[in-house]
Amino acid sequence: MLYCLVSFFYMQPVVAPKTFPTVSETYVYICTGGSSKRYHKTDRCKGLDNCKGTIKKVTLAYAEDKGRTPCKICYKKR
Ligand SMILES: [Zn+2]
Repeated sequence: MLYCLVSFFYMQPVVAPKTFPTVSETYVYICTGGSSKRYHKTDRCKGLDNCKGTIKKVTLAYAEDKGRTPCKICYKKR
């Protein structure tokens, strides 16, 4: 009975080392200053050409927390 219990745990998949997080943050680009309300997939987006402030790399969670919405150019439907 005890042996079954031990073997059960032994068969569990190996957990990924903490030094290599499996969940990677998604980064987006926002334009600080001005009235920009978008976040961009890439800092080469045309929508950032009109940016009067600085282009800042932030996490997607941060951008959405600030009320930013996806740029229509970067995230256009195909
Ligand atoms: Zn964009």
